[in-house]
Order: sequence, then structure tokens, then C-alpha cells
Amino acid sequence: MLSISLLSPPYTTLSYAVPFWLPEAEWKCGQRVVVPLGKGGMLRVGIVVGMEEDGLLKEGVELKECLWPLERKPILGTEYLTMIKQLALRHMVTEGEVLSGILPAGLRTSKVRLRVFNGGKPRTIALRDIYKMSEVEKKQIGALWQQGAVDIFDSSFDAEEQEQCSLLVDPPWAVRPSAKRQIEVLDYLHAQGVVSRTRLLQNLGKGVSAALDTLAERGLVRIGPHDEGECAVCIEDEDSVCTPFSENGFTLLPEQQNAYDQFISLLDTEKAETGLLYGITGSGKTVVYLELAAEVLNRGRSVMLLAPEVALACKLEKAIRERFPEQDVFFYNGYQSPAEREKTFRTLAERKEPCIIVGTRSALFLPSPPLGVIVLDEEHDTSFKQDEGLVYQAKEVAFFRIGQSKGLLVLGSATPDVKTFYAVGQKAVSMSVMKERAGEGRLPDVTLLNIKNLKRADGILAAECKSLIKATVERGEQVVILLNRRGYSPLMYCLDCGQVARCPHCEIGLTYHKDRERLVCHYCGHSVAYPVVCSKCKGLHYLPMGEGTEKLEEHLSEILPSGTKILRLDRDSTRRPGKMQRILDAFANEEAQVLVGTQMLSKGHHFPNVTLAVVADGDLGLNLPDYRAAERTFQLLVQASGRAGRGEKRGRVLIQTRDPEHYCWQFVGSADYDGFYAEEIERRRKRKYPPFIKLALIRASFPMDWGGKGMEWIESLSELGRAFGREHDVKVLGHTPSPLPLLRGRKRFQWTLKSDSWVSIRTLYYAMRKAVPRGSKLRLSLDIDPVNML
Ligand code: ADP
Ligand code: ZN
Repeated sequence: MLSISLLSPPYTTLSYAVPFWLPEAEWKCGQRVVVPLGKGGMLRVGIVVGMEEDGLLKEGVELKECLWPLERKPILGTEYLTMIKQLALRHMVTEGEVLSGILPAGLRTSKVRLRVFNGGKPRTIALRDIYKMSEVEKKQIGALWQQGAVDIFDSSFDAEEQEQCSLLVDPPWAVRPSAKRQIEVLDYLHAQGVVSRTRLLQNLGKGVSAALDTLAERGLVRIGPHDEGECAVCIEDEDSVCTPFSENGFTLLPEQQNAYDQFISLLDTEKAETGLLYGITGSGKTVVYLELAAEVLNRGRSVMLLAPEVALACKLEKAIRERFPEQDVFFYNGYQSPAEREKTFRTLAERKEPCIIVGTRSALFLPSPPLGVIVLDEEHDTSFKQDEGLVYQAKEVAFFRIGQSKGLLVLGSATPDVKTFYAVGQKAVSMSVMKERAGEGRLPDVTLLNIKNLKRADGILAAECKSLIKATVERGEQVVILLNRRGYSPLMYCLDCGQVARCPHCEIGLTYHKDRERLVCHYCGHSVAYPVVCSKCKGLHYLPMGEGTEKLEEHLSEILPSGTKILRLDRDSTRRPGKMQRILDAFANEEAQVLVGTQMLSKGHHFPNVTLAVVADGDLGLNLPDYRAAERTFQLLVQASGRAGRGEKRGRVLIQTRDPEHYCWQFVGSADYDGFYAEEIERRRKRKYPPFIKLALIRASFPMDWGGKGMEWIESLSELGRAFGREHDVKVLGHTPSPLPLLRGRKRFQWTLKSDSWVSIRTLYYAMRKAVPRGSKLRLSLDIDPVNML
């Protein structure tokens, strides 16, 4: 009897019998297999997660037979399956849900064929056909499989690889407004990035096929195979400036040597250990990771280095390749094509020799030879938590994996997560400190600028700020400007009736994007052509209010000396493959004097000639309904400040705020993390927030048109939750409408749970979920230690 976790709905773990055409020896734990499901015998892919004696079966129960294995050697090992079980338990989802959330698409498809070599030309058979075969035929093929005369052959996937579609041109596009289909395709690609033709047609309908071909002929869209080895974000550039690391490494500075020695002594314990590398921006943390990696490889173990986003992972990868030109380096991130990810996954599943793996959080789920060290750079970054789809915190998964291999987990940051720093105080994590910048650079001077009285009509930058930017540019130095709001204007007022243009699915204000002449919802991606007709008064006159990166860029080009080049870095300007790296490289090469961008630019990049960093709206994050708002803002601003003065010249940071009294500012000025931490931890202790308590969110949603029925459910779940909470010592707050009360056509509510025990929180969630019948329109989900209260 085989326990098999399904990788597609209903994602459950079901028991199947070993079939008469393939003996038990052909089935193994961790193997991908195809099984029939339901009366119609639909075929589904699953993973064998357990094997038991048939004797355990109750009398009269008849099991379906497993159909066929998708590989001879299991792709997942036993330790890997243990990790999956842990994750499933922790987040209260099924193992199938976890597996389907982390395995590359190609490993989840049942659209494969068997190729039978039995003299003459090989014969290919679809699994569906095997299912329908007679007993005799099944036995025959089973016998051939055991002789090694049958292999698995995956045809559909290769074809898809050959037709990847991507944009070649940024908006505005030279397309007639009447060419609706072409515009639809362009908008879709703009939102989705690289997409296979199959998927594009699935989503937009076969009707756009001709439009897609026209766009390709006209050179606006590229259709072709995904370039092997080419990352969608970075582009290997001949004169790329990102080459700060020499092959033999640096001589470590005293602080670096100290940190390195501490980590080595942690490695020597041969127990699972966690260490924090708390080093200010520019202190040279990367060099410490590289030398540590060298030693771990020397000791015959593997190394995994993770960054919170792709551009930073690319930078790490480059540094690694230069430091270790002879080593096998595996690069893995969400921007790669499914086929490329699958290839890396398969290669690593087989690999025995030590190697280096670099990537974003999803790389954490790659199988690997025993890991000596996992490094999480910028460990405070919220991108390490995935909170859509499969929920997990990369830090916890890394901790678990390092526990399995008895290795070392290194967390690096200039502004550590408050929880991590608290764990240092509790002696659960050791700490190494680096307080000096490695190169010439010194920390910049930080000035607060009160903009309470700034009028909207004057734009978002105060006069002092503008003149400082101008002066810096005139001196031939560079400026970065952070504005955490993309698009042209975040608010569109109808001049005739005062109505704000909103998304019909989310009720969120639509943002005007001038280059595309569209209004876009930043939550669900819904967009409409501009000008639109006001839904209330049918008027056509809108006033764009407020300022996003696009407008700021336009505004700056009007006030700065002619000839000043301005670049913009945000999600919109980096849609095309390789674009992000090109912008960063161009700026580092000083092809432009000003870089405007969202928080994307605050992270980890190194621009020696930047002497001024401006934070246009420092308060933007402070007022979010999240107990970590101050921590987030502090981290973002210190990181952004870290972009200035990394060269020989002294840097300066200007932060505009309407709330100069906030306690956060006194610490941002001197990048005083210790001071900030001391204040923040006391506030959390008093108000009972993590790390002093366990906190979770239960989210509920139901379709908008379900109205009263949905509300009845919410009310009764609230009651159930509170009664249960009283018994089990869980404080249940809510229900309250979520900060985004309507999203993608669903009404959303949430409960905040506080308790001393995760077990109680999970039990409560379980009770709520059990109360809701299967197949209900009401959806519930649990977010443990949420990083995003929205
Ligand atoms: P962090 O990640 O801590 O912000 P980086 O690792 O990016 O800092 O290093 C900052 C700069 O210092 C880089 O340009 C790097 O080349 C330089 N650097 C780091 N370590 C040394 C060293 N031991 N000797 C000389 N330069 C160094
Ligand atoms: Zn929307």
C-alpha cells in the first residue's frame, strides 16, 4: 500500500495499492508517480510519501492501483520529505499543497509519454492509454520497464520552451488605439514578464493569436526559445561594473577576520548553529560570506547563499563566480523559465559532490548535497516570507534544513529583524559585529526636512531639497531619490463630481500610468484605457493627484539643468528581461546623474559617486496598520541612506517628513540600530507584540455577491473562535474587515490571534476550518507570524 500526496486539487494524501503489473520494488518513497482519481479515472501526479503493509487495510476496502512511476530513482530524499511534513504541520496545509507550491511545473505534469524500446523503432505510449490497456498488455509493459527497456519521455514541455513571448519595447507603444487585441497582448506581457505562447493564449483566448504574430513581425514582441543560462533580470554585460571581488579574495580587515573566526568556531561545534552577522552598510559582509564558503567547500560540504530579491542574488552570483571560477555554481530564481528550474532541480537531486547554490527564497527548496552553511543576506527583508499561495518563512525553512545537516545558518544585516536581535539577547543566536565601512566610505550625514506645510501644487519635493539636488548634479555627482509609489499619480479625481476612480474588483484607487495612458490597480493588475468615463457622473475630466515615480521623473527633468539624465527603477521600468540590471549598470557607469526609484533601489547596491540620497516621503510606511511599521521604516531608511557616500566623497541624506516628532527619526539620523532596538523592544513588551507573544492572522474571504450568507458565516466563526479562545488561552481580536476589504472580487475579513503557544493557535484554526463545510464559497487561511497585515 502506497501513501501518495497529490500535487493538484484536492491535494490530499490517499492510499493506493501496488499494481500487479509492477512489483513493490519499483515503488519508493520520494518518487513521483501517476495515479487515477475519482470515477472517471482522471490522471494525477503525486509523490509517494509512505509505504505500508497491505494488512493494515480494513476489510472490504478496495484500493485503486497506482498507475506508473515517473522516474526510477526517487527525486526527493527522506530528509526532504521530513521537511515537507514539518512545513505542512506548521502551516496547517496538506503535504500535497506544500509540494505543489515548491516543485517546478515540469515535475508536476502528467502529460508525459512512455517510450518502449522493444526492437525496431521505439513506440511511445501516453499514460492515459496504459490506464485503458488490458491486464496482459499492462503486464508486458511492466516487464519491459523492469528490464530497463522503457523510459519516460516529456514532449509537451520542450515545445513550450521554444515559444516564450516577451516584450522588446517599453511603453508607449506605437500601436493604433483601435488595435484592441494587440494592446491587450502588450498589456498582458507588460504585467506578466516572460510567458509561454500556450499560457498567453490560455489566458487571453485563442483570438489574440494573430495579434501576437503581428506584434512579433513588427518587432514589439519576441517569440523564441528561452535562452539557457540567461537570467531574465541580469544580463551578462562586457563592461559590467559589478566586479568588485578578486579571484583570490581580499585580505580580511580585522573586523571581518573576527567575524570569520567566530563563524568557523561555530562550524567546528558540528552541531546546528545560527549566527548573526550584524554589519553596517558597506562593512564588507559579502567578503565574509565568500571566505566562509571557501572553508565550507574545503571541508567537503555545500554552500547556499540567498538574497531577498533577484537583482541582489545576481550580484551575489557574480561575486561567487569570480571568487570560485572552478566551482559548480547553481543559480535559481523565480524569473527563470520552468524548464531551466526543472533542470537545476533534477541535477541537484542527483548530485553528490559539494557545490554552491545561489538564489532567492525559492532556492531553499532545492535538493542538495549536505549543506555546511546557508547564508541569508539582508535577513530582515520581508521578501524572505512568502505570503501568497504557499505561506512560509525562508528563515525557518533554512533553520530546519541546517538542523538536518548539522551546519551553520548565517543571517546578515545592517538592520536585523527585531526578532533576530532579541534571539541574540536570549543566547539562541550568536552575533558578530562589524561597525566600520570596509572601503573609503563613511556613513552619511542625515537631515530631516519638515514638509508639513508643503502645498500639493508644488509637487512632492521641498524647495531646499530641489536646490540640493541641483547643486549635487552641477558638481558632477550623483543623486538617488526614493519614492515608494510607482506610476504617475496614485489618485484620479473626477473634476465634475469629485469621485475617485476605483478598481471594480478591489475598490482601491486606480493609479494613472502616463506612459501607457492607462489606469492600473496595483493590487490585482486590472487596467483600463485612459481617459475613462466617470462611473458616477459620466464626466471625462480627471485631475491626477499626488505623485508617483513616473511623475517625479518628469518633474525633475523640468527643473534640472538641460542635459541631466534621469533613470527610473521600479516594477514598471524593469518589466523587460535584463532591464533592471541595465538600469543599475548604466547608473553605476555614471551614464545618468539621477536615479529615481521605489524601495527596489534601497537594497544592497553600490554606487561610489552617489553623494546625495533623498527620501521623498519618509512617512509613507509609518502609518500602516502593522505593529512592525516603525521597524520597516527604520530598516528601509537606513538601507536607503546606505546608498550615499560609499565612495571617497562624504555623502548626505535628506529625509522629507510630515511627522518629525516620531520616535523613529532620532535613530535613523545616526543609523543607530542599537538605540532603535532598545526603544522598539520596550514598546513591544508593553503592548504585548512579538517576540513576547505568538501572533497569527486568520484570513477569511467570500465572493462579493454572496452578501448576507458570507456575513453570517463570519459572525458565527467569530463566536466559535472567541469561545474556543477563552478555553485555550488565545486572545481573538476581530473579526475586522481586512485593510484591503475587497480584493479581486472577494470580501475579506480577518482575526488577529495572540497566544503563548503556537499549538493553541493552530488548534483554534483547525476548529474554525472544520466548522466550514467542504466546497463552501468561504475560504479560510492561516498566516503564522504575518509580515504583511494587509
Ligand atoms: P555590505 O554588504 O556589508 O554592505 P559589501 O560586501 O558590499 O558591503 O562591501 C562594501 C565594499 O567594500 C565593496 O566594494 C568591497 O569590495 C569592499 N571591501 C570589502 N571587504 C574589503 C577588504 N577586506 N578589503 C578591501 N575592500 C573591501
Ligand atoms: Zn483591483
